[in-house]
Amino acid sequence: MELLAPSDYSARLTEAVAALPAVDVAVTDCLGLVLAEPVIARASLPGFDNSAMDGYAVRAQDVPDAGTVLPVAGVVPAGDTRRNRLEPGTAWQIMTGAPVPDGADTVVQVELTDGGTDEVRFERAAEPGVSIRRAGEDVSAGDEVLAAGTRIAARHVPVLVAAGSATVRVIPRPKVAVISTGDELRSVGDELAYGQIIDTNAPMLAALARQAGFEVVHIGRSGDTAEAVLAAVEQASDAGADAIITTGGVSAGAFEPLKAAFEGGSEITFSKVAMQPGKPQGFGIIGDRMPLFALPGNPVSSLVSFVMFVAPALRTMAGRTTDIAWLSARVTKGWRTSPGRAQIARVRLSQNDHGLGVAPSGGPGSHLMGGLAHADALAWIDASADEVTAGDEVRVVSLEGEFA
Ligand code: AMP
Ligand code: MG
Repeated sequence: MELLAPSDYSARLTEAVAALPAVDVAVTDCLGLVLAEPVIARASLPGFDNSAMDGYAVRAQDVPDAGTVLPVAGVVPAGDTRRNRLEPGTAWQIMTGAPVPDGADTVVQVELTDGGTDEVRFERAAEPGVSIRRAGEDVSAGDEVLAAGTRIAARHVPVLVAAGSATVRVIPRPKVAVISTGDELRSVGDELAYGQIIDTNAPMLAALARQAGFEVVHIGRSGDTAEAVLAAVEQASDAGADAIITTGGVSAGAFEPLKAAFEGGSEITFSKVAMQPGKPQGFGIIGDRMPLFALPGNPVSSLVSFVMFVAPALRTMAGRTTDIAWLSARVTKGWRTSPGRAQIARVRLSQNDHGLGVAPSGGPGSHLMGGLAHADALAWIDASADEVTAGDEVRVVSLEGEFA
């Protein structure tokens, strides 16, 4: 079977999936979701002329000189719903955010007065148009305040909420089900007999999916028969998943239950990708439109497969970017690699005078979980390289964030 370039394999997956149908979500629950439609302001912002300072609302012409004294008509606090009117030759004491009385054309900040409550003395002549936030100066009703395709971050929340709609149309977070396969697996907390191991992949993939911004709706496990896998996949679909991730059972040996369940059928294609770790991969759409990602079983292989292939496809389903957030880093300590396949190396990043530095972390074995915990990034080493040398520039993706 020919080896596929990792980029070609990833493209095959992202092209096979599509953004999920849009839904209406409360504006306060949209963090991390992508807008399916633009957000149009229902109201202008600010909604009314209001004071930018604590001070006194006056007509500038009534305060022509330092030493002018005016009677104070009253106080306008923030939240005052009265429509106040300024009589010529008077002042209203006013607080930041309070509506400016009709007839006032400026606000003199309290620091430029004696702060009086019955009457107020001004330290200098007033200028018109000062310290008033004008209605609509930020946003006009009818303006598009956020474009379709925007991924809601904290900075978008104020305008989203103030624009006046209780809900917005967004692409929902894909719901992911994770299934690990293997007769040797037991769950965390179980007693282990000789030859058995804890299922680490399902909890890890659930954590990866959540870290990358998706929702996990089901975590399952199956033994090493085709029937067990098919039953676990059915359970995952019944749990309301939008996508299923399996691990294990995709290599060339015996007891490869994913292959036993799907090989030769039309739904899942098994491939070999020119990448180390993560060479054996399976992918397809089962049933109506359920993507199934069949990852290799070694923990590091399945982590790398998630970052490189699954996350970009799930992001496509979420309306987000397919791109991986590669950064450029300079190798501070070299290592050997085997040519012919792209190596996705576990590395540690450091910050130095020249920018980002990168050094190998842990051994290369795909079963090394202790080592994996010390790595904080993956480095991409081209298939043509047989060695990475100090000073080389390489691409790295952090394992701390969303990978995008
Ligand atoms: P497989 O791809 O099923 O042949 O598994 C390859 C290696 O990964 C074997 O050593 C398995 O025991 C191990 N492995 C498979 N699945 C898991 C899992 N969920 N958690 C931990 N190790 C696993
Ligand atoms: Mg197995």
